Amino acid sequence: MAPAAAATEVEVDAWAARDTSGHLSPFTFSRRATGPGDVKFKILFCGVCHSDLHQIHNDWGNSIYPMVPGHEMVGEVTEVGSEVKAFKVGEIVGVGCLVNSCQTCDPCTQHLEQYCGKKVWTYTDKDYDGTITQGGYSTIMVCRQEFVLKMPTNLPLDAAAPLLCAGITVYSPMKHFQMDVAGKHFGVVGLGGLGHMAVKFGKAFGMTVTVFSTSPSKEKEARELLGADRFIASKDPEQMKAAAGSIDYIIDTVSAAHPLDLYLSTLKLDGKLVMVGIPEKPLSIHAFSLTSARRYVGGSGIGGIKETQEMLDFCGEHNITCLIEKIPISYINTAMERLGKSDVKYRFVIDIANSLKSED
Ligand code: NAP
Ligand code: ZN
Repeated sequence: MAPAAAATEVEVDAWAARDTSGHLSPFTFSRRATGPGDVKFKILFCGVCHSDLHQIHNDWGNSIYPMVPGHEMVGEVTEVGSEVKAFKVGEIVGVGCLVNSCQTCDPCTQHLEQYCGKKVWTYTDKDYDGTITQGGYSTIMVCRQEFVLKMPTNLPLDAAAPLLCAGITVYSPMKHFQMDVAGKHFGVVGLGGLGHMAVKFGKAFGMTVTVFSTSPSKEKEARELLGADRFIASKDPEQMKAAAGSIDYIIDTVSAAHPLDLYLSTLKLDGKLVMVGIPEKPLSIHAFSLTSARRYVGGSGIGGIKETQEMLDFCGEHNITCLIEKIPISYINTAMERLGKSDVKYRFVIDIANSLKSED
């Protein structure tokens, strides 16, 4: 009888950035053999988040090269470890921004793994076994089962992939900061990947939604495709002035430095502004913007795994997906340039299965 095949590492085709120029090019690396608690899957689609653009350029100062970005990946399970009961071969799954955490600290026991001091990001981080994590611009993923999500079966997979970061990053603060109250007035600053999902959730929660955008060309679609009730060209001082004191809560998704006081002035008494965008430079706030109407400013990072699953199920029930532009991997450098210019409606998603070869 032939001996059982030893578990071996798997060769993965990918595209990686090699330095702070951020230029991506073909790259091959190994992922670990599927361990007892691991799920292995063939990646079908991966979204392109603005965080990928920040990371390939080392905007946040923690990048590790070569770097395979991508934390909005979906695919089909090809192997599960002996201890895995919740996932089966053939099932469609996803992985977002996290691949590991300690599972025992306060945040972890509250299902807030994103705030664990020992969390491991999906790429450009060091995993517990010492390997450098690599993301979803690649053909195959191996992930510990606790960080694998079940994708809703009724949603198109390409348009559902960005829910794994863009979706949860706005859904989580909307829930946590109670910015999901029907009838209230919700403002979304920046109509990109995160922002357009915030508009969709705002409408699903029954709120009146105002979009603040620096791109007047986005108005028609914001109203007609996303259902926004009001569109404010944020560079027009008259439009900003007219909105003063009209909004209950704002989610700010902007990726670059911008004047926060202007947006705070549009909040009512006790209004809240929650930052999810992460500009590379610090933002400034005049204290009067807060004290004059008892306003709050907060922040939020992605979401825990349990809440991400809840958000995916909610999207399945309400048929919520992202508006995407599907691209082959060969277009990624152009896509990154366009993303830097806010020229995408509203998320690039890489068709991995049809544009990157996979051996497995
Ligand atoms: P995106 O698709 O590029 O959207 C950002 C939007 O911000 C742009 O579409 C643009 O909207 C607006 N914007 C860009 N530059 C601006 C400027 N100089 N002034 C004013 N508005 C500007 O990016 P994304 O993928 O949604 O990500 C947005 C930010 O969130 C990034 O910083 C990303 O790293 C961060 N992020 C944070 C988390 C978290 O856990 N907190 C998770 C994921 C991403 P308009 O054209 O409508 O003005
Ligand atoms: Zn992201």
